[in-house]
Amino acid sequence: MDCIFCKIVDGQIPAKIIYQDNDYLTFLDISPVSQGHSLVIPKKHTVDFSSLTGAEAGALATTVLKVAKGIAQALGAAAYNLGLNNGQSAGQIVPHVHWHIIPRYPGDDLHLWPADAAESQRLDETFTKLKNIFQ
Ligand code: 5GP
Ligand code: ZN
Repeated sequence: MDCIFCKIVDGQIPAKIIYQDNDYLTFLDISPVSQGHSLVIPKKHTVDFSSLTGAEAGALATTVLKVAKGIAQALGAAAYNLGLNNGQSAGQIVPHVHWHIIPRYPGDDLHLWPADAAESQRLDETFTKLKNIFQ
């Protein structure tokens, strides 16, 4: 399997692993955007979030919750962001699903979600397309 995260799961390449159980693994991101930036992955290769079943997504989220709380407490982080890039156009570089846990500290000045005024003008148009999709 030519997948860098599967190689971490298999121990073929090193990683700073901070949590693992039968199904999930968490390790420090090699290029952290904040202290403690970590990735939570399923051990089973799955390309992206959309490829998970609901049960798998739920179990992964439960693990993310546990690990995020642990990391934040251990590092004294005031808060944390969770991020998941689903697909190449969304910025997913590694095609093995992973949640980012990004601990946040007062005054760290990270801006992960830049506001776009132009996009907000299209809200009505977008809402028209979406408001009935689950009815
Ligand atoms: P993506 O853009 O796919 O959501 O994020 C991939 C993340 O994986 C990036 O933040 C990147 O720094 C991290 N990453 C890529 N290769 C490695 C690696 O070999 N080891 C570790 N620990 N992190 C990696
Ligand atoms: Zn993989």
